[in-house]
Amino acid sequence: MKTYQLGILEGDDIGLEIVPVAVKVMQTALQRCPEGKITWIKLPIGASSYAEHGETLPRKTLDTLYTLDGWILGPIGHMAYPKNDPKAINPHPIIRRDYDLVSNIRPSKSLPGIDSVHKNMDIVIVRENNEGFQPDRNMHKGTGEFMPTPDMALSVRVVTRRNSQMVARTGFELARMRGGMKRVTAIHKNTVFKLGCGLFVDACREVSREYPDIEFTTAVVDTFAMQIIMRPQHFDVVVSTNMFGDILTDEAAGLVGGLGMAPGLCAGDRYAMAQATHGSAPDIAGKGIANPYAMIMSGQMLLAWLGMKHKDTDLVSAAAAIANAIEAVVAEKRHVTPDLGGTAETEAMGEAVCRKLLQ
Ligand code: NAD
Repeated sequence: MKTYQLGILEGDDIGLEIVPVAVKVMQTALQRCPEGKITWIKLPIGASSYAEHGETLPRKTLDTLYTLDGWILGPIGHMAYPKNDPKAINPHPIIRRDYDLVSNIRPSKSLPGIDSVHKNMDIVIVRENNEGFQPDRNMHKGTGEFMPTPDMALSVRVVTRRNSQMVARTGFELARMRGGMKRVTAIHKNTVFKLGCGLFVDACREVSREYPDIEFTTAVVDTFAMQIIMRPQHFDVVVSTNMFGDILTDEAAGLVGGLGMAPGLCAGDRYAMAQATHGSAPDIAGKGIANPYAMIMSGQMLLAWLGMKHKDTDLVSAAAAIANAIEAVVAEKRHVTPDLGGTAETEAMGEAVCRKLLQ
């Protein structure tokens, strides 16, 4: 029997509320697995780690992650960390980079019961995670952003064939697995960024030749930003460089009910990390009203990813059960959080999902 070690990293603010709920839902869905199949390991990270261990990303956490199969990471409220303290770094870019979590997979699906702009939207955006314009992770040493004079700032954008191909491959595999329109659309602006976006599209086209059963199309980012609002039904799987994808995934979340409905999985060849699209929402932290959907479904994606990677039907079934249970809870609207028009608290919504799983 394959056994799995999964990490729990709660993050900050609402992370402390939604991660325990997501883990409880995952554990409930895994109840039918043989004893000892999953070991959970809680690891320090973020503001609470800084208070206890003097750093937001202790070495012990990084070293332990290497021994795990995957982990769930809550949102990080790094804007509130002490400035100019090298021990108060934003941990999640480091984790994404060190564990080669190149593909950030972010689905946006309209669900019955949710007041959304579109009623029949079901797309997945796969965003490159570790290069692009992101200065905190796109250089081996130093930063990708600098100021030659006090009045001039330069931001370097990095696009590599390797990461572009990895993102494309993730996208084509997803399109095949979803079995829907079987269409992958690569987002670019190669009319202007002839080299960077040109390389990205080239790499996607190369990979597309391995998937003759999947249609490959491209779209210019500004046109796509409009099209996704007008007719998202035209798209299936979308692949993108980092910054375009960062913006477009929030836009897509807005079309299906907001950031609370936007799960995500950061995945590479070896590891995967469940991480919702949204931030730590300090404005609602501690009030018990954060929507746990995105975090629960991020955990669900982790189980599905592990299940497929290891051909483990227990995990695949647990993931499918979570998706069905939470969709039923959302559709019934009796136990949903205020952002979804309900009055339930975070924990109560999680409990409702657990009850559905046990029915
Ligand atoms: P945010 O995503 O935290 O919040 C934006 C808005 O969405 C807020 O009104 C918030 O209340 C709401 N919201 C977010 N998640 C919600 C949920 N689950 N349920 C209900 N409402 C939800 O973005 P922000 O306010 O710009 O950033 C806050 C902090 O999070 C900052 O420190 C930022 O740097 C960080 N951040 C972290 C991540 C991450 O860890 N992946 C991503 C984005 C922002």
